[in-house]
Amino acid sequence: MAAPAQHSSVSPAQDVSFDAAVTAQDLDRQLRDAAPGQVIAAALRELGRDRLAVVSSFGTESAALLKVMADVDPAIPVIFLDTGWLFEETLAYRDTLIATLGLRDVRSIQPLDETLRRDDPQRDLWFSDPDACCRIRKVEPLARALAPFAGWINGRKRFQGGARAAMPVVEWDGARLKFNPFANASREDIELIYASAKLPAHPLLTSGFLSVGCMPCTSRTAPGEDERSGRWRGKAKTECGIHTTVIS
Ligand code: SF4
Repeated sequence: MAAPAQHSSVSPAQDVSFDAAVTAQDLDRQLRDAAPGQVIAAALRELGRDRLAVVSSFGTESAALLKVMADVDPAIPVIFLDTGWLFEETLAYRDTLIATLGLRDVRSIQPLDETLRRDDPQRDLWFSDPDACCRIRKVEPLARALAPFAGWINGRKRFQGGARAAMPVVEWDGARLKFNPFANASREDIELIYASAKLPAHPLLTSGFLSVGCMPCTSRTAPGEDERSGRWRGKAKTECGIHTTVIS
């Protein structure tokens, strides 16, 4: 009599997740010392344009990633989270960079009206519960926007410190492949991309904003302060949640 079939205790979903995590580790090994453009090209080869997106805040350092991406393929979809609390200057900067770099598929994603009416009717959630505010204005909209994609690219750098200091170049975030082409980049590398491509600066940079997010949660940085110290100043919060949550 044939022996009964052995059933794995691992579910199909766990198998897929395990395979993807192994793929991420392999890619990370291959791309550990690669230039940002090589990382983006490899992501494109691995997934194809229809399954890959860049996520950009169009902040003070965003043009560097967008320039490198545009040199590889300006039609890679770019997701921009328009939270409803952004500076006019950021919205204008988005339009400037679309025109300057020839970006062909920038998607401005907003929170759902019904969610805002239900959870933030007074527009004061940023003050009473900033984590909940980020969840409905950033994390949930990003989950909707990323639904069709199997991988995403972002512009975080290790030199920004905190949880970012140890990130790999490629990782499995629990739902998708995540490419961090600037993980190894130095501040000087970013400045060199701006200078050599003559990229326009974010309009608020010269006013003392080294990092720009939503209006209520962004302040100027003093000389010598860390570049992200103006974000959620006075609070323990340092991340909005899109890089610390599984976006699914
Ligand atoms: Fe709300 Fe501030 Fe988060 Fe923007 S950064 S979504 S205003 S808590």
